Amino acid sequence: MSKLAINGGEPIRKEYFPEYRTIGKEEISAVNKVMETGVLSRYFGSFDYNFMGGPKVKELEDKLKDFYKVKYALLVNSCTSGLYAAVGALQLEPGDEIIVSPYTMTASATAAFVFNHIPVFADIDPDNFCISPKSIREKITNRTRAILLPQIFGNSADMDEILEIAKEFNLYIIEDCAQVPFGKYKDKLSGTIGDIGVFSFNYHKHIHTGEGGFILTNNEELYNKMALIRNHGEVVIQNEDAIKQFKLSSISNILGFNFRMCEIEAAIGLEQIKKVEYLIDERINNCNYLTSKLKDIKGIIPPYHHDYVKHNYYVYAIKYESENFGGLERNKFAEAVKAELKPTISREDEGVLMGVGYVKPLYFLPLYQNKKLFGNSNIPWCFNENNISYEKGLAKVCEEMHYKKLITTELMTPGMSKEDLDDVINAFYKVAENYKELL
Ligand SMILES: *Cc1c(COP(=O)(O)O)cnc(C)c1O
Repeated sequence: MSKLAINGGEPIRKEYFPEYRTIGKEEISAVNKVMETGVLSRYFGSFDYNFMGGPKVKELEDKLKDFYKVKYALLVNSCTSGLYAAVGALQLEPGDEIIVSPYTMTASATAAFVFNHIPVFADIDPDNFCISPKSIREKITNRTRAILLPQIFGNSADMDEILEIAKEFNLYIIEDCAQVPFGKYKDKLSGTIGDIGVFSFNYHKHIHTGEGGFILTNNEELYNKMALIRNHGEVVIQNEDAIKQFKLSSISNILGFNFRMCEIEAAIGLEQIKKVEYLIDERINNCNYLTSKLKDIKGIIPPYHHDYVKHNYYVYAIKYESENFGGLERNKFAEAVKAELKPTISREDEGVLMGVGYVKPLYFLPLYQNKKLFGNSNIPWCFNENNISYEKGLAKVCEEMHYKKLITTELMTPGMSKEDLDDVINAFYKVAENYKELL
């Protein structure tokens, strides 16, 4: 008789897993206070004293500056907007190249296109899954101007080596820290190591404001340009006072957007950041518990991080080695584990919060495969002479991780009890012990 739930056996888990909920009374009351003022956003899209936003926006920016000990913080309406503003502030030339990881949320790469630059994909590190310094080096050309590096899953790339490369080739570094609020590399907070750090407040992140994000930098010029891009800067730079305030001498023009965050979201953010350290600690405790048990299954390799990195576990990413399971494919193993488990409350329609791989390596998207973005032209590739490749095999480690090895899960968020975590662990053990049923 079969034991595995996928073959009709009794599943380990009978009930849904608890919701990950960070919104409480504090946020509700903060929102109500803003609602009572009747003013939900103070921004004004031309140069006046409201150009930089309303009181809650400014208060949260000040808090973020204090937390991160940086000179400048800018709230935006998403991390995507923040990345666009960051790339725009570099004021590179059309056809210039930005090196990025293919294993990230799509916006990390599309940010380049907004200003007619070209994303060049480097490979990832097989242990921390962030961009690999060695691979960055191999991708550098006469047109490389920046590295946009996602700190993926809550881990950190090898920043010392990347800083060295950036110095040697005079490249900007933008850290995409959407998945790693208050993560650390050595004694530095992620997002404060490169030139610009960009963060997300969307619903799926450690803390959220529904949608939202913020940008950090210590560079006054970049800050000023990003502030202009956030709020229709092209009209502002005609104003004498603005030219003085933003020290605009080197700017010929600015393409502005509306990347402004509302007062309501800023008010929510002010409450959320009070909770973030607790929420991250809980996540780390849960993941350490999972790791302490799963590491004893031969062929299941829990997430790795250097001891000088604070891994914030946006996602818990396991490496699966099929040779320890008679060659059983990862997908079949993962399906069997999922069949033992249940969805999570408030995200029932996503099924069991466990998946194979993360996102498809970005260069497989049609946009890259066809090199078609603006109508039938080949803008921006026509501005570049290096014939950038998006061929299969260009990031071998990434492809192997995605298609063969990684199993990722969110079944470790704060609110999961020890018993809940034990069910996840037991599901892995059960499938590992009975894998022959699947061969
Ligand atoms: C979530 C995410 C983003 C985008 O964040 P939004 O706030 O939804 O725009 C960008 N990069 C990475 C790595 C992410 O995980």
